[in-house]
Amino acid sequence: MSDDIRQQWRELVRAGVRNPDAPADDRYWCPELETIPREQLRRIQAERVVLAYQYLWQCSPFYREKFAKAGLSADSVRSLDDLQKIPVTRREEWLENQEAHPPWGTFSPLRQEDWTERGWMLFTTSGTTAAQPRVFRHTKHDRDLWSWLGARALYAMGVRNGDIAINCFGYGTSVAFWGLHYALNLMGVPVISGGGANTERRGFFIQTYRPTVLLCTPSYALYLGRVMQDAGLSPQESSIRMIVAAGDPGPCIPSTKQRIEELWHASLHDDFGCTEVAMSPLGYTCREQVRRTDAPVDVHLMEDVYLPEVLDPETMQPVPEGQSGVLVVSNLFSESQPILRYVMGDWISVTSEPCPCGRTHARAIGGLKGRNDELIKIRGLMFFPAVIEDSVRRLTEVGDEFRIEIRRVDDMDKIKITVEPSSQIPKGSYAPPQQRIARALKGSLGIDVDVELVPYGSLPRTQFKAKRLFDLRETPF
Ligand SMILES: [Zn+2]
Repeated sequence: MSDDIRQQWRELVRAGVRNPDAPADDRYWCPELETIPREQLRRIQAERVVLAYQYLWQCSPFYREKFAKAGLSADSVRSLDDLQKIPVTRREEWLENQEAHPPWGTFSPLRQEDWTERGWMLFTTSGTTAAQPRVFRHTKHDRDLWSWLGARALYAMGVRNGDIAINCFGYGTSVAFWGLHYALNLMGVPVISGGGANTERRGFFIQTYRPTVLLCTPSYALYLGRVMQDAGLSPQESSIRMIVAAGDPGPCIPSTKQRIEELWHASLHDDFGCTEVAMSPLGYTCREQVRRTDAPVDVHLMEDVYLPEVLDPETMQPVPEGQSGVLVVSNLFSESQPILRYVMGDWISVTSEPCPCGRTHARAIGGLKGRNDELIKIRGLMFFPAVIEDSVRRLTEVGDEFRIEIRRVDDMDKIKITVEPSSQIPKGSYAPPQQRIARALKGSLGIDVDVELVPYGSLPRTQFKAKRLFDLRETPF
């Protein structure tokens, strides 16, 4: 019985693959799916949601128990409308499940024999030394889908044969960028691995082997560019024409995007997902969006393989299109993690209005705004660190790194931003910018901030994901 459903699931997913090996034309890798009428898209999602539910019911002990607790039975999900009956899954539930059933937990339908017969790779979250990392196993089926989906996204961004990519991540057990590595393999675009090389060496690789596409986090694109400048190399005059960034919301923060694009004289694209539910690009930017300078860029959501929902964080009910809420995602292709309604927790608003590129898949307006747990609440106001980042990086005399500290002093919440002068401006050639930053932040946030200027090089350099917010209040509220 359970073997049938496993096979049925893989076959349904594979039957949905179009143009598995090469792009159909010079605009779209897969026009049939990328420009599909939205009602057909809903039909694809409906068929997959119904079968994914069956698959989880039969093959995942964690989900069968969770669904039964919610009063559902084996055939409770028969249409897309029934999706709302399915309880959402939160990160903590998987954590508890893996701790109770080490090392894998029981949420994945994957059995040991599937892993040893069709296994591809094991991934972990970064974790801390005290806690066990969370661990995920993926199969060759998943690898094939990740490559194909990554190729569709990279092609929409404008990666083509003739390009050479340099992938600046550690090639460790983190899921980050592995999917894009395999996608580049599928596309026939050669990859220079930056794994194991330090930043100076990566700069040397760029200068010497002349890659055209740089893959890294937005913070690292800034860091690498500055290290090259310090070494007397010019990122602007380098062979890099395009940057594919993931891991931080930078490409959708206008001033950060402008800084990176000017530093490299290259276009900056966004690719987002998450380890638990969206390991291949859930969101990607098209060329038409990235050319926009009038507003933050929108990011397409790959809706034939993911079902994104935008929910009110209090009621967990859907909000109308265009309104903000938290992102909940169903994975409609994975053999190991075909998860329904996982709370990614990022704030998002979505539009299905036509995009100039012709793709019909919905777009996250201005990308991901920040995670619900990063929302800064201070003196009755709520905002994401990205708002501060945008204000700080608009000031050209200020360096790339900054730090946000929130403390409670005499029952009053105080916010302090620490910045450095830019390395590109000769020392002593400008007035200290504290007051201007404070004024700019007062304009964008509506509150007073203290600004501290420290010498260039004092703040820690970010090489992967940035940690810039330090909320030092005992009970943040
Ligand atoms: Zn588009």
